[in-house]
Amino acid sequence: MEQLPCPCCSGQLKVIGSRQRKCINASGEKIILIIRRLRCIDCNRIHHELPDMLVPYKLHVSESIETVLSNDSELSVISDESTLNRWRKWFNEKSDYFQGCLKSITIRYGKESVEDKSDLPESKLQRIWHYVGDAPGWLARVVRPIANLNLWIHTRLAFCP
Ligand SMILES: [Zn+2]
Repeated sequence: MEQLPCPCCSGQLKVIGSRQRKCINASGEKIILIIRRLRCIDCNRIHHELPDMLVPYKLHVSESIETVLSNDSELSVISDESTLNRWRKWFNEKSDYFQGCLKSITIRYGKESVEDKSDLPESKLQRIWHYVGDAPGWLARVVRPIANLNLWIHTRLAFCP
């Protein structure tokens, strides 16, 4: 497993334990992941590792959510239309924030500048893809850097592992 720096102070993290986190994989199976608890040696804050496949506070893996968001298609593993609508609404509400985060991360790390075009594509999804590309795994590429920098907004505690 990779060792990330502290999202608050870039200090060194030390593993101090673990906990279980339920999720539903892309095949619709309930699985339990072991998440490492980490403490920063410098600022003493506690963090929990976010596996690539997860979105904070979401029960379903990011692959499932991504499929629904990008194809507007129904997942065979989820028959519940209200879940799909909730994901679409969630993304619709958060995408401007995500876009802002991705932009500031790009600037912070001085990566190749993503130009601010006045003719940005219309759809929110396309604007996000402007930063992370549309290849499979794009949702993980949005979630991961934002969560790692502690920029994730904790608006929902409905599913708090
Ligand atoms: Zn720290």
